[in-house]
Amino acid sequence: MTVFEKAERLKQLPPYLFKEIDRKKKEVMARGVDIIDLGVGDPDIPTPPHIIQALKKAADEPQNHRYPSYSGMSAFKETVAQWYGERFGVTLDPAKEVITLIGSKEGIAHFPLAFINAGDIVLVPSPGYPVYRIATLFAGGEPYTMPLLKENYFLPDLDAIPDEVADRARIMVINYPNNPTSATADPAFFSKVVAFAKKHRIIVCHDAAYTEMAFDGYKPPSFLEVEGAKEIGLEFHSLSKTYNMTGWRIGFAVGNPGGIEGLSAIKSNVDSGVFQAVQLAGIEALRGDQSCVDEMVRTYQARRDEMVKGLREMGFEVTSPKATFYLWVQVPGGYSSTSFAARLLEEAGLVVTPGNGFGEPGEGYFRIALTKRLDRLSEALARLNVLRF
Ligand SMILES: *Cc1c(COP(=O)(O)O)cnc(C)c1O
Repeated sequence: MTVFEKAERLKQLPPYLFKEIDRKKKEVMARGVDIIDLGVGDPDIPTPPHIIQALKKAADEPQNHRYPSYSGMSAFKETVAQWYGERFGVTLDPAKEVITLIGSKEGIAHFPLAFINAGDIVLVPSPGYPVYRIATLFAGGEPYTMPLLKENYFLPDLDAIPDEVADRARIMVINYPNNPTSATADPAFFSKVVAFAKKHRIIVCHDAAYTEMAFDGYKPPSFLEVEGAKEIGLEFHSLSKTYNMTGWRIGFAVGNPGGIEGLSAIKSNVDSGVFQAVQLAGIEALRGDQSCVDEMVRTYQARRDEMVKGLREMGFEVTSPKATFYLWVQVPGGYSSTSFAARLLEEAGLVVTPGNGFGEPGEGYFRIALTKRLDRLSEALARLNVLRF
């Protein structure tokens, strides 16, 4: 036994399903193939200049060089509350109902530590962002899969959750607009979630990273808009996708003061907050000129249209998404998610994400991230066409 024998919490992690794709990608790259990577959900567009300027200015101020407040600068939390009021009509107390996060992933990952005891259940969507399940395991909880299926418009079927499971559950995670399926949810669905959560005494965590990345004039709702949501729920938000700030590490959670307090108690023992200069840049992002958001939406909308049209012409089954920069596409007959993704990589130099990597109910699908320029997407379509599915 090595001194670095891993702890059980690491050993219990599900096998990393992208390992094989990662290995193949290296191999294909080594052959000198011009790879088009539509795998990662990371914007290819730079952060808008006025936000970068705000960071530069704030970085020069010595008062920003010290430890920040653990739960976030008051000015940032007030900005978030104001933005929620204007965007969603949701009223928040910036002191008790808002917390700054080092990206929403950080908050989502730490949240179960505050509320989950050994053996408690967390209801997690599948296919889904892998953090929900893994954070549950790290906290000693038991993930219970809520499958997201096409016949239910990729919404969890709450009636299918057995009562004894619901009664042992302490948290439910939902995520709309959704990664990876790009499905959206309306307030009527959120109301059903509130009723379910109240009946079974469950905390609802809504991951809302994609509310601003929506097309054709659609404005996705906040979970907190619906009656009673704040009594049981929190929403996790991010500047990453809205303002092309994935590398900056800033997000926030809002909602029930008890939920925020628990998360804050964990975080104050783990990290020491977000660099104030980054929070000041975040204020500029949320308060400044929003035409950069309109432009981001126009860019992805054009990419979506190009890609959906091209895929359909080749006979692929794909819904044109109302939101997110993902296409969730059915693999053609005769392939599994993995064998399809492997063939695209080997024969066309195209990286897509096999759907089963997001959980077993994602089998039969692959995900395309629209994070490349139009000319590269056209090239990807041309290469796909050559393969003749
Ligand atoms: C990108 C993404 C996030 C955002 O993560 P950050 O840590 O804020 O960068 C959260 N949830 C989902 C589902 C995402 O796809």
